[in-house]
Amino acid sequence: MAGNRKHYSTTALWAAHDHESPERDVAMPIHHSVTFAYQDMDEWFDVAVGKKPGHIYSRNTNPTVRALELTMRALDGAEESISFSTGMAAISNTLFTLLSPGDRVVAIKDTYGGTNKIFLEFLPANDVDVAFCDTLDFEGIEKEMARGCKVLYLETPTNPVLKVVDIQRLAKAAQDQGAIVIVDNTFATPVNQMPLELGAHLVVYSATKYLNGHSDAMGGILSGPKTLVDRVFHYREINGATLHANSAYMILRGLKTLELRIQRHNENAQRVAEFLKQHDKVESVYYPGLPDHPNYDIAKRQMRGFGGMLSFALKGDFDQVKKLLPKMKYAHSAASLGSVSTLVGPPRVTSHVELTMAERSAMGIPESLVRYSAGVENGDDLIADLEQALARI
Ligand SMILES: *Cc1c(COP(=O)(O)O)cnc(C)c1O
Repeated sequence: MAGNRKHYSTTALWAAHDHESPERDVAMPIHHSVTFAYQDMDEWFDVAVGKKPGHIYSRNTNPTVRALELTMRALDGAEESISFSTGMAAISNTLFTLLSPGDRVVAIKDTYGGTNKIFLEFLPANDVDVAFCDTLDFEGIEKEMARGCKVLYLETPTNPVLKVVDIQRLAKAAQDQGAIVIVDNTFATPVNQMPLELGAHLVVYSATKYLNGHSDAMGGILSGPKTLVDRVFHYREINGATLHANSAYMILRGLKTLELRIQRHNENAQRVAEFLKQHDKVESVYYPGLPDHPNYDIAKRQMRGFGGMLSFALKGDFDQVKKLLPKMKYAHSAASLGSVSTLVGPPRVTSHVELTMAERSAMGIPESLVRYSAGVENGDDLIADLEQALARI
């Protein structure tokens, strides 16, 4: 590993670089090969049983995929990292490895939609007991854990109203229960937040978002102690949610500019949030970098930057959102987040489309809410664009 892992760009560029590679590649080659050939049966055996480094079959390991995993391992400050075909594969493989019938998991209510489905549908079907807690009721979460807890599952900041969960406090309480703490760090990335340093055992990502950063590859990452990550790796190599070498290359390429991009995402989101805050057509703005955000103090303590995600509610109803989005020149109206280009979407038609108005309201999601994933465009252009679009509704 090159230098201090907090020097993210240096780490991202050098962690998996091998000066001794036979072809002297400066850019990581994409190893499309499904299988790897051996002349010496003893060597083949040694690689197959893990006595010697090497690769046998790409569902299990692949050189390009491994380069990505080594880079994420360094960025997360973890003992081990493995990758998956998607973020949901990382999350589901991890949960199904660690939880058996009769176990109990404590989770916050505001997890990503797909994760929520695992808790509501798939884990209960396997006789795993799921306790859902109000995301910001830390005392309630601690009480729930005291009733029994194999896994504590957290995500912060949350979608779509950017609640910030106190990882350090809850990880400490989980430690007393002997529970494994998992944090979905997709929104923050290692540049803005290091869950393992805050006491979490495992950190998961949708690499589809900021880690890749260009909306052109999907992937997932899990980092943590080798004993736990190896168990999940075993599950994944048999269940087969392997990342493709081509996607691994794309994500590795994205990581080279992660720190640069996140700096700009942070800066643009802060400026946009401050601009929207004083606009008379905007009812409310949700961004952890605003001092009046209810979790500003926690965010300030546990995050190095407040991130590129924000949301805002327009005055009026959903018709205002319908008018606003098509008028924006520098924002794709699309699902997903964490891209170099700005993306906007109303939770009413994206992440929370399956809920009724009353259910959304109970979750504190106004009908006129717009989620805004600030890209890396020039910040003046983003503000001018919002200004002209808001003037026309
Ligand atoms: C997108 C997302 C996921 C799921 O990732 P996929 O790559 O789409 O499978 C999980 N968690 C969060 C916070 C996400 O934003």
